[in-house]
Order: sequence, then structure tokens, then C-alpha cells
Amino acid sequence: MEKRYFQKEIETMPVEEIKKLQSEKLVKQVKHVYENVPYYRDLMDKKGVKPEDINGIEDLHKLPFLTKADLREAYPHGLLAKPLKDCVRIHSTSGTTGKRVVAFYTQHDVDLWEDCCARAIVAAGGTDEDVCQVAYGYGLFTGGAGLHGGSHKVGCLTLPMSSGVTERQIQFMTDLNATILCCTPSYAAYIGETLKEMGYTPDRIPLKAGIFGAEPWTEEMRRGIEETLGIKAYDIYGLTETSGPGVSFECEEQTGMHINEDHFLAEIIDPETGEVLPEGSKGELVFTALDKEAFPLLRYRTRDICVLNRKPCSCGRTFIKMCKPMGRSDDMLIIRGVNVFPSQIETVLLNQGYQPNYQIIVDRANNNDTFEVNVEMNPDQFSDTVSGITAKEKALAEAMKVMLGINPKVKLVAPKSIVRSEGKSVRVIDKRKLHD
Ligand code: ADP
Ligand code: ZN
Repeated sequence: MEKRYFQKEIETMPVEEIKKLQSEKLVKQVKHVYENVPYYRDLMDKKGVKPEDINGIEDLHKLPFLTKADLREAYPHGLLAKPLKDCVRIHSTSGTTGKRVVAFYTQHDVDLWEDCCARAIVAAGGTDEDVCQVAYGYGLFTGGAGLHGGSHKVGCLTLPMSSGVTERQIQFMTDLNATILCCTPSYAAYIGETLKEMGYTPDRIPLKAGIFGAEPWTEEMRRGIEETLGIKAYDIYGLTETSGPGVSFECEEQTGMHINEDHFLAEIIDPETGEVLPEGSKGELVFTALDKEAFPLLRYRTRDICVLNRKPCSCGRTFIKMCKPMGRSDDMLIIRGVNVFPSQIETVLLNQGYQPNYQIIVDRANNNDTFEVNVEMNPDQFSDTVSGITAKEKALAEAMKVMLGINPKVKLVAPKSIVRSEGKSVRVIDKRKLHD
């Protein structure tokens, strides 16, 4: 099969040339930020770094980091590098970690972002013959707008569905022969379950590919979605701060996501010390946006834990690949003094044959933390007897206790009853903060 790219000369550029391009862009971008963003200029001044000290990517480590706390402090306009009259768009984070961030875009920024999404669609096999159903949320959330723009650039017939109203999604998908589905993996699984209940077998579903991201998902989930929908499911990664989805995307190898290195310079650091780690190490992913005009973050700490590798890829793309994020460095909960990561709970659920549709609810009663985990039953368990369900809840609580060291109260809830915001599952509700 002939290999297809959206921007071949860039996506297959020799690594040395990519690095040269990144160096040139970095020098310019640091100047742009130093001159136009007093907040970051102060950070550089405090560190004793001047734009003249940055002559290429080898000097990147000299620059100060930018964190989500900085973004909050500078809210709303403090990191703008262009006059507002030159900006055409605002987006905001979905707030899965509770705090919203606003990002600004010039037309140029929107354009390059849409290119990145178009690269992802083409890598998933998309052409101008495809009907692309965009079921990410439209609005402040970046998912809808990003893939919508990318779909237009590829020339797909675009179905701007937004998320939710699943019956309508299915009606349009089947009546209009959608071939590519873009949404969060949890929503894709949900659509798949609904289709199955309606009696659709994979051969009767017109889809051939899906581009799913914006939240963590596992290989097991991928296999499940691929089987139910009869498609290939591709991962896509991004965050509002770096424009949105499309920072990186999977190719047909499905072994990690190629980072769009002409626009984003990636580093892996030790989240404790901030030290830059060699390629192949596991650590916190840090991005420098090389082309963004309005909101050009330098050395932005994503808090996503990840590994990078530059092994040659059979697809011909030369961009470095990142693995699936392995949780956030800050998503750790401390419950009764014990460190709890949502990913540990997810592992238990998958091991026990459940879908990773769950919600952790932490509260405080009589100065003690309460810890509940609601888990969606599989549809076939829904008709179980009360005692059968109680036994399953007990078994799950036991398994979680073994994994975490503390005892949660597990409740099995009806399939599809856990709220999904903009298609993303809300994993943690920490009510303790409300009382502070
Ligand atoms: P937030 O969820 O923090 O409010 P965003 O909506 O911008 O803000 O989400 C960005 C975050 O979503 C990333 O930092 C990452 O943790 C997560 N994310 C995005 N895409 C993926 C993906 N493909 N796999 C796993 N996590 C992802
Ligand atoms: Zn590849």
C-alpha cells in the first residue's frame, strides 16, 4: 500500500534537519516571548538567562520551566504574546483536574494546529473520500474544533456532531456512512456498547477507523473498541495549553504517537529535580511550542509521565514517538495518608474483567477520609441478584485493598451511569477540598 502523509516533506524529514529547524525556531521564539511576555521575561531574568544565551536546542535546558500554577497565576491575559486584536479564538481546558486554563490563538495558530490534526487523520487512513464524524465536544474544549479543522483540511466530509445524544450519533453514522470516528476512547466504547445492544455486528457499522484521545486508555480498551466497531483505533494526544489534540498522533504501527516535532520540542525531565533525562527514560513530558504566536509556552510541564523513543518507524515518519501517558505526576490522591493513583484502580478493574468506567469519591467525615469507588457494571451483570452484586463488590474491594493498601467502599452502578464531561470520564471527585 502506498504510504500517505498530509505534509510528507515535513513528516519524513531527516532527524538532523528536524533538529536544525527546531534550533532556528527556538531562537526566534525565545526572543518573541522575552519581548512580549513580561511574566516569562521575569522568570528568565530571575534565572539569569537572556535570549542571546539560547543559540539552539542544546541551550533549551537553560530556560526556566512554566507550570500550570504559572498559568493560573497569569490568568487570564498574563501569558499573551500578541495583542488581543490579533487573536481570533479562545479555548479552555476541560478542568478534569479542577482548574481551568484559557489559551489564545491567532489565525496562524489555528492553521498550524489544524495541520497537526490533519496529519493525524491521514495517518489513520483518512482521505477526501471519507466521512469524518467528530464526536468530541465542540465549544471551549479543544477536541471538537481541532479535529473538525483537521477533517476540513484533509477534505473529508465532516459531520460536526459534538459529544452526546448517542442515538443521533448512531443514526447519522449509519445513515450517512461515517468512516472515521473522532471522540474520546470512553465515548467510543460507549457508542460501541450501544450499537451492540441495538444488534449491530461490526460488519454492519460503516466505520473503518477511529481517532481517540484526550484521556488515558489502555491496550485492552483499544482491542475492545476495535472489535466492537470493526475498526482500527488510533491514539491522539494534546493539551489545551499546546493548542489541543494533535501534538502527537499514532500511525499504522500503533506503537506510540509521533510528536509533531516541527511545532513541538519535547523533553523528559525528572519531576522531582527538574533534571533533563536521556532519551528512553521515564519522566515528566515537557513541551516547548516553537510556532505558536499568541500563547507560546516555553518548557511547559505537562505533568504527564511518559517515555520518548526515536527508533525508526515503518510508516516512514521520522518524528520521535511518545508512549501512552502513564498517568499524571500530580494525579496522586492522598487518602488516609496513603498514596493512591487512579491508574492503580484502573488496573484492578481491567484484571477483574470490568471496563475502566469508574469514579473515585473522596470526602471527609469526623476527621477521617472516606473513600468510595463507583464502578459501572458490565451490561451482562445488570440482571444479577442483589446478593450476587454484593459478592462482586466485596471481591473488587478486596482486590483494590491488595493493590492500594487501604480499603475502599466499592459500589457497582448501572452501565453508562457515570457522568462523562465533554466525553471525558470524570475519574475523581475530591469533596475534601470543598470544606477547606
Ligand atoms: P485537563 O484535562 O487538564 O483539564 P485538557 O483538556 O487540555 O486539560 O487535557 C489535557 C490532558 O489530557 C493531557 O495533559 C493528558 O493528561 C490528557 N490526555 C490528552 N490526550 C491523551 C491521550 N491520548 N492519552 C492519555 N492522556 C491524554
Ligand atoms: Zn510511524
